[in-house]
Amino acid sequence: MDTIKQNIVELRRFIPQTVDLVCVSKFHSVESILQAYDCGERLFGESRVQELVRKYNDLPKDIKWHFIGHLQTNKVRQIVPFISLIHSVDSVELLQEINRCAAKNNRKINVLLQVHIAQEEHKFGFMPDALISFCEGFDFEKYPFINICGLMGMATFTDDEEQIKKEFLLLSNLFSELKSKCIFDVESFQILSMGMSDDFPLAIKLGSTMVRVGSSIFGERY
Ligand SMILES: *Cc1c(COP(=O)(O)O)cnc(C)c1O
Repeated sequence: MDTIKQNIVELRRFIPQTVDLVCVSKFHSVESILQAYDCGERLFGESRVQELVRKYNDLPKDIKWHFIGHLQTNKVRQIVPFISLIHSVDSVELLQEINRCAAKNNRKINVLLQVHIAQEEHKFGFMPDALISFCEGFDFEKYPFINICGLMGMATFTDDEEQIKKEFLLLSNLFSELKSKCIFDVESFQILSMGMSDDFPLAIKLGSTMVRVGSSIFGERY
């Protein structure tokens, strides 16, 4: 068995069927992605627009592409025609631009709101307080082509498990709070995208419904 296949078989043992696996294929070749595809994987995540568009063109059309990186407004239109889920909506301006491009394509776009839960400055996302007020004041008439499906967050890059746990709990509680308020479509607002190669087991324990795993499947990125 090749390594990628082995990695997926191993990884799948730790992921309950109720949790979706996004295979994060950034920096990896179409050949590597095809190996994961041949194991039955269909959700793939990329963080750069150019790379994603190229791979979308080169790979089978039943792949569901997820955008997980920081998205610049001037690049939105390139992915709107085919993207399955954008995890990284971190500003009102970005949401407006996605809605505008989506309208042109006559396509409703699924998005997650990214929440800044880490201690690092360089991570993107709404601050928790800003998120709550943004959601409570959400003007649906402004975003007819947007489907808000849940939240995404990244923990601090650290070995301190207590720290990671604290951040995941914060995100998980925000998700539950918003869910209970039923601001967004109840059928759609179901996704908590939380957990990567190093921390996905903890994330699942704390309520993640979607994990984004790269290096544990494809190896290190260079
Ligand atoms: C790269 C990336 C991942 C995957 O990270 P690994 O540690 O390789 O599993 C997950 N989420 C986001 C947002 C990423 O940029």
